[in-house]
Amino acid sequence: MSRPLAIGLVAHDDKKAALVAWAEAHEGFLKDKALFATGTTGGRILEALPHLNLVRLKSGPLGGDQQLGAMIAEGRLDVLVFFVDPLSPQPHDVDIKALIRLATLYDIPFACNAATADLIVR
Ligand code: PGA
Repeated sequence: MSRPLAIGLVAHDDKKAALVAWAEAHEGFLKDKALFATGTTGGRILEALPHLNLVRLKSGPLGGDQQLGAMIAEGRLDVLVFFVDPLSPQPHDVDIKALIRLATLYDIPFACNAATADLIVR
């Protein structure tokens, strides 16, 4: 059974505005996709683009990154867009590494910044 492309969306706090701007710029691409975001990131995206088909998971530090990782392991997530903040320590660093590891292991397209996310959309 075919399903819409499933895209995970995550941004660290200092990158949330950039991810919202990216989503606004690519609204046409995102509008018919199944979107899954960590809690706070998803809330920010839905404030700007309330009509998107977006499921909010738990906040990243409370397990949201692990939920996305589980979806990758189960073949339920096709693309990961994760705007990482390379300048701030994160309390859930182990979860972030685990998510990146699973995206790498399962060989799904994975963008950690806007330039790469733009390439995926193209
Ligand atoms: P958040 O989680 O969207 O709930 O802030 C993102 C993260 O993993 O830092």
